[in-house]
Amino acid sequence: MAAHPTLYLESRYRKLVRGLPQTIFWCPVCKGHRERRRTCAQCQGFGKLTRDSVQELLARHLLPAFKARAGKFHGAGREDVDVRMLGQGRPFVFEIVAPRSPQTDEEQVRRTILEHCGDRIDLAPFRRVRRERVAFWKEAHFAKIYRALAVLAGAPATAPVTLAGRSFAIQQRTPARVAHRRADLEREREVTVQQVEELAPDRLALTLRCAHGTYVKEWVSGDAGRTRPSLPELIGVPCRCEELDVLEILTEEATSAPTAPAPEPDPAR
Ligand SMILES: [Zn+2]
Repeated sequence: MAAHPTLYLESRYRKLVRGLPQTIFWCPVCKGHRERRRTCAQCQGFGKLTRDSVQELLARHLLPAFKARAGKFHGAGREDVDVRMLGQGRPFVFEIVAPRSPQTDEEQVRRTILEHCGDRIDLAPFRRVRRERVAFWKEAHFAKIYRALAVLAGAPATAPVTLAGRSFAIQQRTPARVAHRRADLEREREVTVQQVEELAPDRLALTLRCAHGTYVKEWVSGDAGRTRPSLPELIGVPCRCEELDVLEILTEEATSAPTAPAPEPDPAR
């Protein structure tokens, strides 16, 4: 049976657990290389650092159902592996390369994925879209709402609740934790503290609205002075970010999306 043109399925995923990466988490030492991983001490021959990823939970059912050998996951940005993705979820396009059964019902496959994912993810219904949507989601920038759990090393000098409702223009250098793979730049970003809950004398839950590209964990910790002003500076006590969730990606407020594409009719089925 001849292969058909590549299919593009758009949806949004919610990631309801921590420890699940968006895409395959290759071992940093052997990169999953078939030969090298056999003797790799880092991953013990597994080639990956986690068994699953959002990408794999999808591909495991989409590829056999559409009789395709290859698929690609294109996310509209990504969250760290230990960060949950809540709210309406993160948009993505799953590319199904050369499907031999393009007429497969994607809704049925979506249900199968959800039945087998152990409640780790949720998926909005798939929509067949044109290839241009991949670039659209890659290039568009969105502000996000986060919930951060901050642990304080002592008593704050300034009451944290006084931050509620305030916006801060921050200078942020590339975080130490990613500096080995990203250019070391300084950028200006904006953080608005929408809500502050004091869960305990040394624990705060903060609801934050952050500009695209803000490193939120580093705003909470200060990243050894690389982010300024940071939460520790503002309340006068060292802090660390214990947990982080994306509560919403503000996709209606794209700041540098390319020319808005015309609404796309479903390609002929
Ligand atoms: Zn390895």
